[in-house]
Amino acid sequence: MPSPLEIVCIPALSDNYIWLVHEPKTGETLVIDPAVADPVLAEAEARGWKISQIWNTHWHPDHTGGNQAIKQATGCLITGPAAEAARIPTLDRRVAEGDRVRLGPVEAAVIEVPAHTAGHIAYHLAQEEMVFVGDTLFAMGCGRLFEGTAEQMHSNLQRLAKLPPETRVYCAHEYTLANGRFALTIEPENQALVERMVQVEKARAGGERTVPTTIALERATNPFMRVSTADEFAARRHAKDGYKG
Ligand code: ZN
Ligand code: FE
Repeated sequence: MPSPLEIVCIPALSDNYIWLVHEPKTGETLVIDPAVADPVLAEAEARGWKISQIWNTHWHPDHTGGNQAIKQATGCLITGPAAEAARIPTLDRRVAEGDRVRLGPVEAAVIEVPAHTAGHIAYHLAQEEMVFVGDTLFAMGCGRLFEGTAEQMHSNLQRLAKLPPETRVYCAHEYTLANGRFALTIEPENQALVERMVQVEKARAGGERTVPTTIALERATNPFMRVSTADEFAARRHAKDGYKG
């Protein structure tokens, strides 16, 4: 069944994507990781949508910076990782692994994916075949390890890789071109990767976005998902940190 949700992407700061999600039956409207408030409020207003919820994936300011002003303007309910509540003072509801949150009739399961930050979570909408991953999984890349280990990030990505292949993956940044260039240094002969990069180069040259991606596409082209051991993952993450393109 096609998803009833309407999804709008609001680019913010240099490369953030804020996702605005509308459920038409109940009129509920959700913002995922508002880096800023003004363009989000403007977009919702232009569509006649009333923002009822914010879901945060982690505490970084480019994911929570709009919380306070959006709440002030709309009275929305803010949900985020229990483990980072001290760093997100605007949270109304703290969630952890296995908790369920709802947007009208649509249910999301909270998945803990610590590593980029210690309490990072993702929201998996199984019925809708969608997952909001914040800064954990990117198109052909993954988040930096600011508060966790390579082992943790490796197991996060292996876990996400087991979601149904058609699952759409909503990342919080447009990093695809730089990630893909690095990926080609690891797997220059990977035909799926080579072909994807041709499309990505074209899309970016035309100013188009390359997110969402899918689990199937990441399994075929993401060098951080395509590893057999945590050590191999760590070596690739380390190489990417020093990679200048
Ligand atoms: Zn972050
Ligand atoms: Fe970020």
